[in-house]
Amino acid sequence: MKKNILIVPGDGIGQEVTAVGKKVLDKVAEKFGHEFLYDEALIGHVAIEATGSPLPDETLKKMKASDAILFGAVGHPKYDNDPTAKVRPEQGLLKMRKELGLYANLRPIKLFDELLDASSIKPEILRGADILFFRELTGDIYFGEKGRKNDGNTAYDIAEYSRFEVERIARKAFDAARTRRKKLCSVDKANVIETSRLWREVIQKIALEYPDVEVEHQFVDATAMLLIKDPRRFDVIVTANLFGDILTDEASQIAGSMGMLASASIGDGTGVYEPIHGSAHDITGKGVANPLASILSAALLLDISFGLKKESETVISAVDGVLKAGFRTRDIASPQTPHDHVLGTDAIGQEVLKRV
Ligand code: NAD
Repeated sequence: MKKNILIVPGDGIGQEVTAVGKKVLDKVAEKFGHEFLYDEALIGHVAIEATGSPLPDETLKKMKASDAILFGAVGHPKYDNDPTAKVRPEQGLLKMRKELGLYANLRPIKLFDELLDASSIKPEILRGADILFFRELTGDIYFGEKGRKNDGNTAYDIAEYSRFEVERIARKAFDAARTRRKKLCSVDKANVIETSRLWREVIQKIALEYPDVEVEHQFVDATAMLLIKDPRRFDVIVTANLFGDILTDEASQIAGSMGMLASASIGDGTGVYEPIHGSAHDITGKGVANPLASILSAALLLDISFGLKKESETVISAVDGVLKAGFRTRDIASPQTPHDHVLGTDAIGQEVLKRV
């Protein structure tokens, strides 16, 4: 198979982990006889420094022309501490999602058995947890009208959803549930929020097309509690942008570390694959960032954008093999991990490559 992959490392540790993810794609191409052609583009703080824009036109053009995108992270402390900054790295991310029509964010939350102890939740609650989140990505309070009134003393953000926007993500989530344990939980706040009432109405209607999928509706506050109390009760969860943003970070603790979780943002065109973590400036340049989330993002890319299931599974088993052999990066090491098994970014990447 011949494909064009755009590498967009972004800021901070995005640069370090994406380089490792790309090496894994290279190894897969070599092993399975595919030809992956790469190009690279700027986004975020590095793009602002080079061009003044967090998403330069050239990057967007390359994105639209590629078959899939391996993405790192955006962000810089300079902007985090300056709420008045007019140009911000995150604007690049939001614009990319909008321009590429990436309306569904998929986050598989699955704990590797070897990491049961790395989570702050008890192993007996966690063992076997396997959740697939579908977070809506291009609507809600993030994209509605926002502003200030009363001389700047009152602020507002308007949340908006159309029937069409809910329908298209609902179908993707129901389709995925069909290939899994056939359970779908739709999360909203329909007791108080109007967009949530429309959300629930649409899910109920689409559910009629999927009689083989068992559907439940939960309020977001109850879901936040249930994820910690009994994560195994969930299979596929579908929810709106803001609720999904918060719940998926909470659920990342089920997997032990942000450094282990991959995500896919998909729509009807090019898909973007990225770790869920940010640019982590506290550890940038130290060579200790965990690249496994980027590697697992590459595995998602192979599966979802290219339909290469066997190749994707090979990468996931290679990661599993590295963990089984006892190797860890600092963020997932336990006090029992032998000193010589705590590896840096490149060294753990090499262990994955060997096993692919
Ligand atoms: P973060 O995910 O960057 O880091 C949170 C904590 O987890 C830090 O202590 C960090 O060292 C650790 N961590 C994260 N990824 C790791 C990895 N691969 N290996 C080891 N440890 C890891 O979140 P933050 O500190 O809240 O944000 C830092 C910057 O990233 C901010 O500017 C924020 O806006 C941005 N951000 C970007 C994205 C994105 O690009 N999708 C997502 C979240 C945050």
